[in-house]
Amino acid sequence: MNLILLGPPGAGKGTQAKSICDKFNLCHLSTGDILRNEVTNETELGKQAKDIMDKGELVSNDIILMIIDKFITDNQSKFNGFLFDGFPRSSEQAEMLNKLLNDIKVNINKVILIDVDQSILLDRIMKRKEEEGRLDDSEEVLKSRLEVYHTQTQPLADYYSNLKLLEKVDGNMEIIQVNQAINSILEAA
Ligand code: ADP
Repeated sequence: MNLILLGPPGAGKGTQAKSICDKFNLCHLSTGDILRNEVTNETELGKQAKDIMDKGELVSNDIILMIIDKFITDNQSKFNGFLFDGFPRSSEQAEMLNKLLNDIKVNINKVILIDVDQSILLDRIMKRKEEEGRLDDSEEVLKSRLEVYHTQTQPLADYYSNLKLLEKVDGNMEIIQVNQAINSILEAA
């Protein structure tokens, strides 16, 4: 089973991704986590991505393609599938993913959109800033991340809805309730 997790920054994608992956033995592919790791390790790629990430904008598709391609090749045989979190983030990236998956004869089974009200997002991100100290978790950067989300990522919901793959989940609820809602969808899949 291969899944895509969609949702605005602060929707709780990372948290939900972990429990879904444990339950269904999926490989968690978070482009955000991979990029943050590159930044922390001060790799060449991390140096290229850092400024863009700090501004809340999207890093180049070339960088993303390199990351995804390598990650899929390294992990494909070890799991029952992938959970894509934070990717695709634009129509171009959705096309990139189609090509990659076609080449290895893999399908996306479901796309789960975690929907959360704007005011709740802001509260969650401010809390996360205190706990984790992410540089892109400031009020100002969040504004641009939300704008990027609305203009570039949200249209993907229609794209996957037309393909009959989209399932919406109310992400305003408690973690455990969101988790149960996702599990019921996946168990019925
Ligand atoms: P969020 O909390 O907004 O879901 P992520 O942890 O997924 O954030 O990503 C943090 C930052 O990493 C993004 O704002 C962006 O700069 C970069 N990034 C992550 N995934 C992608 C992607 N697929 N394409 C381009 N940039 C990305």
